Amino acid sequence: MNIPQRCDLCPRMCGADRRRSAGMCGGGAMLRAARAGLHMWEEPCISGERGSGTVFFSGCPMKCVFCQNYRISAENFGMEITSGRLAEIFLQLQHKGAHNINLVNPVHFLPWICEALDIAGDGLKLPVVYNSGGYERVETLKLAEKYVDIYLPDFKYISDELAVKYSSAPGYSSIAAKAICEMYRQKGPYVIGDDGILLSGVVVRHLVLPGHSDDSIKVFRRLAELLPPEGILVSVMSQYTPFYKAKEIPGLDRKVSDEEYERVVDVVAELGFDGYTQEQTSAEEEYTPDFDLSGIK
Ligand code: SF4
Repeated sequence: MNIPQRCDLCPRMCGADRRRSAGMCGGGAMLRAARAGLHMWEEPCISGERGSGTVFFSGCPMKCVFCQNYRISAENFGMEITSGRLAEIFLQLQHKGAHNINLVNPVHFLPWICEALDIAGDGLKLPVVYNSGGYERVETLKLAEKYVDIYLPDFKYISDELAVKYSSAPGYSSIAAKAICEMYRQKGPYVIGDDGILLSGVVVRHLVLPGHSDDSIKVFRRLAELLPPEGILVSVMSQYTPFYKAKEIPGLDRKVSDEEYERVVDVVAELGFDGYTQEQTSAEEEYTPDFDLSGIK
């Protein structure tokens, strides 16, 4: 595998020489991951009864002030591993009964991950899930096309002001829109097996932020313009909790009210989307796994 010498994997296109230094995402010359294991807290069609075989990668091109995984995304907690070790981890997760392999935040390590999937080869029988913040370049997604079965992107904002203020990601809305269209071009309408587990397709997630249900509604209206609502699944998340810097940011320092969340859910139903909503009671830290290198070492 050739390590990028002028990295342009993500929309930052920061040009880092990944052989010698880390880019704006924190990714350097070697894969870095913080946890691998069976994860029960994804959507039911992903986690099923046995769990999703999740690998959390360290670093992130996005800079969300409310990131619940900030220890790994912003603080880069994790351990360097080879592509060969990652291939072993995939096979170990399969052996444990995982329904799929779930790559959390893979873009800045995509060539390394593709190498690991090549090493695992035909021994890996599970669908591969590409779980991302939606901040992706179409060119990079094309590298993933032959390896990935399911895309699980966020569509976080329509407002550029919010994207800049809360994620330092100018142009996010149009970048994510193009990325999600490319994901759908690759995978087409979703397919669920007889056991209720997703085999292929696109599931778009959106986390409703406190005070911003208007923007959430615009996200789903835009999504309905971009793709046939019956061709994808959506997941409307209410679990926002003021993690990381958000604890200190007025307006972001509270949970989402029932009224705010229900406004969004009503529009999602009107638009004809199918998918998942959450119980308001789930808005707790139980969604944050321990990042302890388990499954990685
Ligand atoms: S993936 Fe990382 S190193 Fe590459 S362009 Fe994006 S921020 Fe820079």
